[in-house]
Amino acid sequence: MRIAVPKEHTPLDRRVAMSPQAIKRLDSDEIQFVVESGAGLGASFTDDEYRDAGAQIAGDPQSLFEGADVVMKVNGPVLREDGTDELELIPAGALFIAQMRPHENAEVLKRLADRGVTSFSMELMPRTTLAQRMDCLSAFSTVAGYMAVIRGAQAASKFFPMLTTAAGTIPPANVFVIGAGVAGLQAIATARRLGAVVEGFDIRPETKEQVQSLGATFVEWEHATEDMQTEGGYAKEVSADEEQRERDLLAAHIAKSDVVITTALVPGRPAPKLISEDMVKGMRPGSVIVDLAAETGGNCELTVKGENVERHGVLILGQTDLAASLPVHGSLMYSRILSVLLQHVLDSDGKLVIDLDDEITTAIAVTHDGNVRYQQ
Ligand code: NAD
Repeated sequence: MRIAVPKEHTPLDRRVAMSPQAIKRLDSDEIQFVVESGAGLGASFTDDEYRDAGAQIAGDPQSLFEGADVVMKVNGPVLREDGTDELELIPAGALFIAQMRPHENAEVLKRLADRGVTSFSMELMPRTTLAQRMDCLSAFSTVAGYMAVIRGAQAASKFFPMLTTAAGTIPPANVFVIGAGVAGLQAIATARRLGAVVEGFDIRPETKEQVQSLGATFVEWEHATEDMQTEGGYAKEVSADEEQRERDLLAAHIAKSDVVITTALVPGRPAPKLISEDMVKGMRPGSVIVDLAAETGGNCELTVKGENVERHGVLILGQTDLAASLPVHGSLMYSRILSVLLQHVLDSDGKLVIDLDDEITTAIAVTHDGNVRYQQ
């Protein structure tokens, strides 16, 4: 089986789908990896390291894609700056694996289906115990949560830890993390490691123990109930009334924070608006909001997707590249995830099996057998 690993051509993304280490672990008589020259450089992996791991290096996209049974990427197929259309190069009948963003790429899915390509969209991996080792959203949310604190700390231009110095004692920074899912918990842990005093909040009361176990104070909400969580473990969308009550609770905590990190998400829904303009006005000048929900509309009503803006003296970071911003570890984690997935879809003879009765394959296969399977 021939597995092609192209170089990513998405702006601000220096990750690669397969590391030399992962290729070496999978190296066998049945599997031949072909890696595009320079594909790993953004993540500090050289062509020589790929060669040493047993991969072939392809000097151009045509020879890379030709004859591939599987193509592995971080992002969906793109039209490169030199005019190369990756989608046209994926061989008919091949399996294409990437984060496809299927909700906004209906045309790409149609073209892949028309060309007889089976494609797996990694974001659709169910968050179940069986799928845990293949969950790239959690891996990249871990990166995003960590980086939210790093960028927030840099923008805050003050120390996070308490310091006792000859020039006096410096009090610790106050950090408030809203939403205690994967990104939020990692943000809490990172801010604690830097020595800040941290508060955490989530509408799911189940998260209280997790927040406290990381050394943060959990902000209690009297309206939080067990039924705010779906069977799948995600939050339910709150009503407009509840959202207003939540804002009333959060306002005082936000006002006294140096850095607020928002990660509140309800899958498939626009981000809940938890910070109003008045709440921003209530913050001290120089305070920072890092809005991880910028991609889906922002948890703060003043967030501008993809931009850092200053409003009423408060810096609001709406960058959407955080998940891609640690390319070495991001690539290493993604490579392991794809390795587990590959083993999941290989039978005992090392042959690829697309079994739509399998709970993982059926969840992530967005095109197969000439059809688009994804439904919004
Ligand atoms: P997650 O589902 O694990 O966590 C989201 C949390 O938000 C859940 O714990 C949920 O209970 C909570 N929540 C939902 N509604 C809420 C409300 N009204 N008030 C308070 N909490 C509420 O998701 P995640 O993987 O941690 O991702 C968090 C966010 O970070 C998402 O918006 C995701 O798209 C974003 N993200 C951004 C980047 C980036 O580069 N900016 C990268 C990765 C993830």
